[in-house]
Amino acid sequence: MAKTGIIGGGAAGMFAAVQAAGRGHEVHLYEQNEKLGKKLFITGKGRCNFTNACSVEEFLQNIVSNEKFMYSAGYGFTSSDIMEFFEQCHVPVKVERGNRAFPASDHSSDIIRGLERAMKEAGVKVHLGARVRRILCRDGAVSGILLENGAEQALDAVLVATGGLSYPTTGSTGDGYRMARECGHTVTETKPALVPLETGESYIPKLQGLSLKNVSLRVMGKKKPVYEGFGEMMFTHFGITGPLVLSASSYIGKAGLPWPLDAEIDLKPALTREQLDERLLREFQAAQNKQFKNVVPELFPARLVPVMIELSGIDPGRPVNHISREERKKLIEITKHFPMTIVGTRPYREAIVTQGGVSVREIRPGTMESKKVRNLYFIGEVLDVDALTGGFNLQVAWSTAYAAAASLE
Ligand SMILES: Cc1cc2nc3c(=O)[nH]c(=O)nc-3n(C[C@H](O)[C@H](O)[C@H](O)COP(=O)(O)OP(=O)(O)OC[C@H]3O[C@@H](n4cnc5c(N)ncnc54)[C@H](O)[C@@H]3O)c2cc1C
Repeated sequence: MAKTGIIGGGAAGMFAAVQAAGRGHEVHLYEQNEKLGKKLFITGKGRCNFTNACSVEEFLQNIVSNEKFMYSAGYGFTSSDIMEFFEQCHVPVKVERGNRAFPASDHSSDIIRGLERAMKEAGVKVHLGARVRRILCRDGAVSGILLENGAEQALDAVLVATGGLSYPTTGSTGDGYRMARECGHTVTETKPALVPLETGESYIPKLQGLSLKNVSLRVMGKKKPVYEGFGEMMFTHFGITGPLVLSASSYIGKAGLPWPLDAEIDLKPALTREQLDERLLREFQAAQNKQFKNVVPELFPARLVPVMIELSGIDPGRPVNHISREERKKLIEITKHFPMTIVGTRPYREAIVTQGGVSVREIRPGTMESKKVRNLYFIGEVLDVDALTGGFNLQVAWSTAYAAAASLE
């Protein structure tokens, strides 16, 4: 049985603690905050979308970075397993649209309480306000940890579950990356992901608050698009956000291209250019002598009207029956390719996850053990693994935590 130290009392750390203690190990959980699960508390807008009730294949498809690395852990502990775990912890669960799983109460605090109860029952020793400064190693193996207060703790195994850099007020301050480097590990470049994007055009802030449903977003790479998706997005004072945009940010990050990047929205993806032209002709014929500016609202949401008029270059006072084929073409062009320049992402404090982290090349995928230091493990967001929204990032935390805990000797 191993005297095991777990650094970080978030999703991965708490779940690993339950699993390790349940297997008879002596488990010490070190959390720098005065309470556990600060990030878990704010997940899923306070409801905690703790997993996605999909097949393992679908789970893997929703991983943006290092999907293959997650194969073994993903099959070893699945979304059904975590749902069953919470049911057994007296936290009833429910599944909503898109297979998103939540606690039935809609309170993330129930997920945290469930984990806390399970840790207590399994005999985990929780140390709050305990910041770990260093991991101690001897002869290629872990020997213990050094706490911020100067105390040393001898340990047989250490699990690093310190999370990433996003929402640093929850305690994710990047300590795990530094500790990993000190142990000889490579940490790949980190970036904010699942994060809103900033745009360059002056007309975008004018659209602040406008939400678009059923549109396509495309972000161009050097030659081909780095992201193409269909769904919902919103304009803000700095740029764009919403489900489509968050997904796009992860793929942009992965492509590693320099800013700025050209992007466009297809405002009417269900219509071909020809169908759109027929629609315009119909509107214009029905409106007869009406001015262009009074017909545009029939075609677009009110917020978008002045911007579409500006971008079309058509005189707003022009009677619609005087609008030429060329002018219609221009209007169709900006409708199918509404232009934007993406100049960057918002900062870590607004990012749902961190992309990059402890290089998975130096981690054994079946156990999450370091290939460099014996009995040292990395689990959860500190790893160079990130996924899309929908409960997949927390499933990464549960699956990697389980793999590590199950392999302790
Ligand atoms: C606003 C928001 C909403 C989200 N919603 C969802 C969602 O609905 N579904 C989903 O799947 N994912 C969601 N995520 C992502 C998900 O929360 C994370 O991927 C997940 O919490 C990572 O778990 P973790 O245990 O690896 O790290 P964390 O949960 O970040 O836990 C790390 C812990 O380690 C502690 N720590 C760090 N350094 C030290 C140190 N030196 N010593 C001691 N303790 C330390 C920290 O204080 C922290 O408590 C959301 C993220 C955010 C920011």
